[in-house]
Amino acid sequence: MTPTFTRTFRLGEFHEFYAGETRFAYIVPAGAIFELDAPAATVLDHLAASDLSLEELVERLGALGLRAEDALGLLGELTQSRAIATGDAPAETPQNPPAVFPLQTLVLNLTNQCNLSCGYCYEYGADKVATPQGKAKFMDFDTARAAIDMLFAESGERRSVHITFFGGETLMNFPLLERVVEYANQQAEALGRSIDFSLTTNATLLTPAIIQFLSANRIGVTVSMDGPPELHDALRVFANGRGSYDIIAPKVRELLATHRTRPIAARVTLTSSVTDVGRIYRHLKHDLGFHEVGFAPVTTSPDRLYAIGERGMDDVFEQFRVLAGEYLEYALRGELHGFSNVSDTLAELYQGVNKSHPCGAGLGLMGVGPSGDIAPCHRFVDSDTHPPRNIATGIDRAKQQAFLDRGHINGKYDCHSCFARPLCAGGCHHEAYVRYGDTGHPNLHYCDWIRDWTDLCLRIYGTIHAQNPEFLENFAERKGL
Ligand code: SF4
Ligand code: SF4
Repeated sequence: MTPTFTRTFRLGEFHEFYAGETRFAYIVPAGAIFELDAPAATVLDHLAASDLSLEELVERLGALGLRAEDALGLLGELTQSRAIATGDAPAETPQNPPAVFPLQTLVLNLTNQCNLSCGYCYEYGADKVATPQGKAKFMDFDTARAAIDMLFAESGERRSVHITFFGGETLMNFPLLERVVEYANQQAEALGRSIDFSLTTNATLLTPAIIQFLSANRIGVTVSMDGPPELHDALRVFANGRGSYDIIAPKVRELLATHRTRPIAARVTLTSSVTDVGRIYRHLKHDLGFHEVGFAPVTTSPDRLYAIGERGMDDVFEQFRVLAGEYLEYALRGELHGFSNVSDTLAELYQGVNKSHPCGAGLGLMGVGPSGDIAPCHRFVDSDTHPPRNIATGIDRAKQQAFLDRGHINGKYDCHSCFARPLCAGGCHHEAYVRYGDTGHPNLHYCDWIRDWTDLCLRIYGTIHAQNPEFLENFAERKGL
């Protein structure tokens, strides 16, 4: 787009950052990263002082030695990338929702039962939204089969689909998991689709035979584990209060030694007494040998004892910053580091993600509970407050749409001026419900944290882009869990 007649130019909406000496702009309405050379930076600096006409900008670029046609080309490029805008351009609107959203991921809660009593459990703890009373505790095969049929029927033109097994403790219903894998593979083959599987487990029930099955079927595994014994056992306990570390550590070692077909990840829940990110990472990555370690602060209302307060979150951020610095050193040497929070954010930046909703819940992802209740995601399964549908009656489109309308970035006015919104879009619907009683409320309690994290990852991205750009190709295919 080449501007050809007199117009007034103004700045677009972007977040500036430096990576070493190189200056970048993260263009918010586009979710795109733009490297600023000297002429581009000059345009932005002048427009930061005041709006300017085309002639004025061409003249100022001329003072840098740029010919008029090159200046026009640059202004066209900056306009197209939305770093600048003409005075008569309409105000940017937040991202539109996708017009169609075929199902891609089915999260099957094989059971709502668990053999641990973790203090912070979102399913059974103080902040639970599930109301499983009177409903099936274990999913049966008929329900699972109907859910799989729904996945294929609702997946439109997608060539590949995904099933994630969840609980409760997933492996308490391992016989069903085996049947689901067999049936879903048969269906995928008959329909000419590809399918892959993953599961989340507390690892207490892993056996050599189960590990062998998971490896043979290329099932990705995420283990919920909070670090070395004294940290892990703070809240990940059996009903009698006994810690679970000693039970799971040997099983995890065996899993890592013999499941060779997919990377194995640890997922750490940070709480007020478990915030030692560096130590937890080193234990899980180096002592035990997980390929990746991801961290998430506990989802809870702020008055729980295990909730992390503001100072605790500052401390967590400082430790994230140190670990992310280590990640960058690895990346510049062309080596993969296992801090998956950075990898996940870099992948979204690389792919130019620009979200209308915080996640796929209710869009390309659905959860199905043991009773056959369909929910926007696994965390709402068995919740009477979010009972949009059942596998027997199918997806209730009106309720699905109401959930999506509620969670859309359009309605989250606090987010409209936030540079982190292409990635955050207001944050997890479930957390919003726990905190504010409204799935569509932006998670305003962590905005500063999210913006600092986004800025840090942008700088990491920019540094890798400047010094080892091939490394970024690792993120072309990466997807979140
Ligand atoms: S960081 Fe806060 S304001 Fe920004 S998008 Fe997320 S919830 Fe909205
Ligand atoms: S981010 Fe929250 S709402 Fe979205 S899938 Fe995860 S738990 Fe569910």
